[in-house]
Amino acid sequence: MNKGQLIVVSGPSGCGKDTLITAILERMGEEAFLSVSMTTRNMRGDEVDGVDYFFVSPEEFEENIKNGQMLEYAKYGNNYYGTPLGPIEKLIETGKTVFLNIEVQGGASVKKIYPQAQKIFLVPPSLEVLEKRLTARGTDSVQEVETRLKIAIDELRRAEEYDYIVVNDVLEDAINDIMSIIRANQLKTDNMKNIISEVVNNA
Ligand code: 5GP
Repeated sequence: MNKGQLIVVSGPSGCGKDTLITAILERMGEEAFLSVSMTTRNMRGDEVDGVDYFFVSPEEFEENIKNGQMLEYAKYGNNYYGTPLGPIEKLIETGKTVFLNIEVQGGASVKKIYPQAQKIFLVPPSLEVLEKRLTARGTDSVQEVETRLKIAIDELRRAEEYDYIVVNDVLEDAINDIMSIIRANQLKTDNMKNIISEVVNNA
């Protein structure tokens, strides 16, 4: 069996990452998983602990960092966000595609631990659209929306650190773009070596 792949998806808050990843997970069924991050931020109305995030205290988060249990982590606003390493290693070993929905500082450190990761940056069609989406969500205060827009501009400046850039204007187009990236990655020579030896050995 081939090893799975790690796909990092970053992009400004409100650019539609969650909707896009949910749609791709539906398409890929048992083949793909979304890593559940750990955070110190407050739970939003409809969120569930252990499903949307593992909600922990700053002390617990720092304990995990100290014990080497995070693949990456970052401070975003006033809160920690990070990816627990354990579940990801198991899924990749069993050939699954694992998505990380993370911001750019964390995204920058993933390849240090997992160089094969493919990084996709998701861009909103415009900042006006982004502001509208953030406001319509109704989960953040006016001040928080402003903070998120400022962070968005900083994040867009770092898009060039990514392997691929996908514009999220028409959802279906963005889904197809990401599915193409995943398929192309699966067909890379490094990931196909097993197939070659199977063909040769069965000749
Ligand atoms: P939100 O508070 O809207 O759920 O997330 C805020 C930002 O944190 C988003 O850009 C999201 O992608 C990012 N984020 C979520 N989980 C992680 C994580 O595990 N690591 C890092 N570095 N960023 C994360």
